[in-house]
Amino acid sequence: MKKIIYAFCTVFAVICMAACTNNNENYESTKVTPRIILTEAETEPAGKPVLSENQTKFTNGITYEGKNGYWHIYGTPEKTCFVTLAGGTSVIPEWFESGKKLYISLNTDTAAKLVFRAFSDEAPDGVTLLSAQGSTVFEVPDMRGYRGLAIRLQVTGGSGEIDTVVHPIISDEPIYYGTPMLTIIDDDGDIHYLKDILPLCQEMNVNIASAVTTTRVGSSDRWMSWEDIKNCYNQGMEILCHTYSHPTPSELDDMSDEEIIERLNTAFTTLMEKNGIKTGDIIVYSSSTGYTERMRKAAEQIFKAGIVIGGNTVNTADSNPYNLKRYRIDFATGDGDQSKEDYCLEDMKAYIDTVSDSGGWEIWMFHTSNTKWRQLVEVNADGSIAYDSEGNVIPLCDDNGEPVLDEDGSQYELTVGHIVYVPMLKTAINYAQEKGVKIVTAEEGFSAYFDE
Ligand SMILES: [Zn+2]
Repeated sequence: MKKIIYAFCTVFAVICMAACTNNNENYESTKVTPRIILTEAETEPAGKPVLSENQTKFTNGITYEGKNGYWHIYGTPEKTCFVTLAGGTSVIPEWFESGKKLYISLNTDTAAKLVFRAFSDEAPDGVTLLSAQGSTVFEVPDMRGYRGLAIRLQVTGGSGEIDTVVHPIISDEPIYYGTPMLTIIDDDGDIHYLKDILPLCQEMNVNIASAVTTTRVGSSDRWMSWEDIKNCYNQGMEILCHTYSHPTPSELDDMSDEEIIERLNTAFTTLMEKNGIKTGDIIVYSSSTGYTERMRKAAEQIFKAGIVIGGNTVNTADSNPYNLKRYRIDFATGDGDQSKEDYCLEDMKAYIDTVSDSGGWEIWMFHTSNTKWRQLVEVNADGSIAYDSEGNVIPLCDDNGEPVLDEDGSQYELTVGHIVYVPMLKTAINYAQEKGVKIVTAEEGFSAYFDE
């Protein structure tokens, strides 16, 4: 089953890129087209490795010929791997000149890094790691003494889906896509949106959207009720549609196209008409259904835009508005392993740096329903979070009002399992504003980049 999804993603990526090209005619692009150095990467998605007879076995994996260079795969093709984009053990590309600034924009559907490794006889193991980074500006170091260079796009997640690595850009001119904007979305309509996020937004005078699944609304104490949602909406918060029943891709397989459309339409009218929530015309696809063509096609008939899970890419006027990418900022396990959906303030700051440098519209996703991603707060005897008379969480402090420290004296927000998401989001929002990134609603981001 998984294999089929993987294969489909590749096809979809190609379709999507074709769609992007067509879309250029429909609205004016605010982007300055960067000069692409890696032309192969520009024109072809990296693609699934071609498992040809030309494969070569190494002790630490196998290389396969791929569409875009060759793939070196550790273990099975579904696991961690990288694609070599340029260079070799005794080749340094001409354009890789010392002191030159390279502008990098990674466009991937999974956590990935661009890795520069230089070869010399002096280095231990013959190789030096120059850099391993996301989308940013990279200054080429002094390359004297090196005989070769390898540039890899490396999947950093332990179970990265290699065929979703698409379209990296390395340019020698600044990549600038327009006013830097950031939209933050809490998925699923958890009650902590009302308890924690609404007060945070009011205090900071910003908007964080809630994407709600209509059949979940009010179905248990865990989710907001319609009254809660309308309360948030009436106070200026953005409420987006997160499908009717939160299907997974395999659940979509059991539905006809008509059923998918009907369900999306029910979710849309429940928000827009029954509850008067006029921001319900943007869909946040459930699970990874946004990567399936059937879901996207259905959404195109009902919604004005669609936002997928993941992608780690800044959206631009050239993006497909039904395939808007997100950066994940969840804190799931507390051990800092991104493959287990674990992110920290440092990751958030790096994402802000990216959009601040390149411009464009960045979208974040997280889940207040993710129980480990909680402020260190007072709890009731049954372990549920305690609230003060105004409905606020009560931070755990010592007698002097200082935040309680961990046993080793470190702050809890830096410690496994005790991250403080409200203060962390506040710090991130302040950082974004300092770096000239506007916090906008999905509606505002959409109008800025796609209206007209
Ligand atoms: Zn969800």
